[in-house]
Amino acid sequence: MMRMARRKQIYEGKAKILFEGPEPGTIIQYFKDDTTAFNNQKRAVLEGKGVLNNRISEFIMVGLDRIGVPTHFIRRLNMREQLVRHVEIVPLEVVVRNVAAGSLAKRLGLEDGAALPRSIIEFYYKNDALGDPMVAEEHITAFNWATPQEIDDMMALALRINDFLSGLFAGVGIKLVDFKVEFGRQYEGELVRLVVADEISPDSCRLWDIASGDIMDKDRFRKDLGGVTEAYREVARRLGVLRDVEGNGAKGPVLVKDED
Ligand code: UDP
Repeated sequence: MMRMARRKQIYEGKAKILFEGPEPGTIIQYFKDDTTAFNNQKRAVLEGKGVLNNRISEFIMVGLDRIGVPTHFIRRLNMREQLVRHVEIVPLEVVVRNVAAGSLAKRLGLEDGAALPRSIIEFYYKNDALGDPMVAEEHITAFNWATPQEIDDMMALALRINDFLSGLFAGVGIKLVDFKVEFGRQYEGELVRLVVADEISPDSCRLWDIASGDIMDKDRFRKDLGGVTEAYREVARRLGVLRDVEGNGAKGPVLVKDED
């Protein structure tokens, strides 16, 4: 494929490919249609998923930036690619939960959908070979994955992201059950700051339709419910990010050329 020849690939993950960016300190995130679950044991290609996640993640990152939560996002380049700042990824997945589901429900014997006494933050060590085990702050600091200050910063940012996303989704009739974020270190001379990295999309959130209870996220794939991309498209549509993907007459102004 053309894109392979044009750019130097840095890394290929399960759902994205990273290429060298046009300027130093930038990289290009390419969103694939590949979908995996259960630590890569279940796989599929869902046509159009990458395009939707590129859009949804762009929309969320821009919104976070607007409320002062720094992200790696610079700009979207095309249907499947976005330009982001090259950061040093903190090897943790930070999960915020508002309602019991997934691994929490299983681990603590809670009903799916049970209310939690308050939002809960969990850390998982990013390591596919180990199946991303849950870790405590003790492990994080002992193994130097992050400093105590960084843990505090990640927790504070995670709660702000949770408030922002909960409100954003509630406004379009969707309950934010839980989500995962990753952080990266951005070096600016002597300074290091944590920014939101990777993506935030229905691949990394649990989203339930408030009216019907319908699942609108990757659990449709995990649970073989079908209609995965259709659900992601509905999330995108409600957020208002689909207009120019589908080209419903909203393509913007047309350049009128002089005849001479
Ligand atoms: N999650 C993710 N990537 C992972 C693991 C979890 O994006 O590698 C998200 C998942 O989509 C859900 C939240 O984090 O929104 C909590 O996931 P959970 O711990 O319940 O694990 P799961 O049930 O997905 O295995």
